[in-house]
Amino acid sequence: MPQRTALSGLSYKEIAALFAASCPPLPELRARQVFQRITANFDNFDALTELPLSARKELSTHFTLRTTRIDGVFPAEDGTIKLRILTNDGCAIESVIMEDGSGRRTACISSQVGCPMGCIFCATGKLGFFRNLNTAEIIEQIYHIRNIEEDSSQDKKRKQSGGQFENIVFMGMGEPLLNLEAVSKACAILCGEKSERRFSPRRITVSTCGIAGKIYEFARILPDTRLAVSVTSAREELRRRLMPGADSLKEIKTALLDYQKGDAGRRVTLEMTLFCGLNTSQKEARAVASFAKGLSVMVNLIPWNPVIQKKDGGTIEFDGSRLLTPSFNEVQTFREQLRYLGINAVLRRSKGRGVLGACGQLGSTDKLESIE
Ligand code: SF4
Repeated sequence: MPQRTALSGLSYKEIAALFAASCPPLPELRARQVFQRITANFDNFDALTELPLSARKELSTHFTLRTTRIDGVFPAEDGTIKLRILTNDGCAIESVIMEDGSGRRTACISSQVGCPMGCIFCATGKLGFFRNLNTAEIIEQIYHIRNIEEDSSQDKKRKQSGGQFENIVFMGMGEPLLNLEAVSKACAILCGEKSERRFSPRRITVSTCGIAGKIYEFARILPDTRLAVSVTSAREELRRRLMPGADSLKEIKTALLDYQKGDAGRRVTLEMTLFCGLNTSQKEARAVASFAKGLSVMVNLIPWNPVIQKKDGGTIEFDGSRLLTPSFNEVQTFREQLRYLGINAVLRRSKGRGVLGACGQLGSTDKLESIE
């Protein structure tokens, strides 16, 4: 049987062109109906009741609305939910929905299966790289999260909103700037005019470990989408050892200066994963201040979430010592040092650790018990 085209990865225009070219051709009205229903989260043709039965049958012969399926749902006590999703070719990816202190919910999605960047503190980096996700696989994470939100929410308002959430961040598995074409197309579909649940690009953040050349491209392709850069250490030598795949701070700074040139509203979030006694010193704070000079930035401080590795007893070593999570006091002291130097820094509370769904933990190989 020939493979059916996944409509979830197509824009409205592409669906319209495909329908017009089909035999017999389907009118543009059908394309609009189908596109709106897909972006409203409909996952089977039978639910498109405004279409005649014959049209639904015809569509399901040639097209599909999903290429992935949920393989596990892992709710944490803090309200975070991690999803394990399987692609058609059997690859497992993970997505997370989490809530901040004021009740706003954010969907964290993946852009690659594994990751080639090899950051030493990250479970996804430990997996290695398998392949890029395509647009359908990226966008379907959002649709799966909406379904789970609708099903699991005790909150009536959230149920009525159809599981809609406030923000989307590309901070899951993979380096999104290495898959920019599929990522940008997914953003265009989510924010597109004919989309039923249209998202504002200002509520989408793409997070990179620092691929300088791609930052220029990102600025051109996704001008209104927010950018976050994982700095972790602003001391080049330390950073290179922690994040061996990323470009140098000098190259990144040049790219960020260009990114913000003429548009002061493009504030960049600098992310710092903090380790006990490693990157929380005064010297580090001064290096961050020096890096941030001339840029409009906000710093997110993320206490490291331990990565579980069975093969070496669950620890990661750096310079002969175990990597450890810093204490609350250590993080607060570092934050004060940054503030003293004029850098606005906020502490990002760890969410989802109970299900290995916190920042840096996706793809952990430990077995978890799913509720599905
Ligand atoms: S931190 Fe991000 S870029 Fe680095 S290995 Fe993990 S997923 Fe890849």
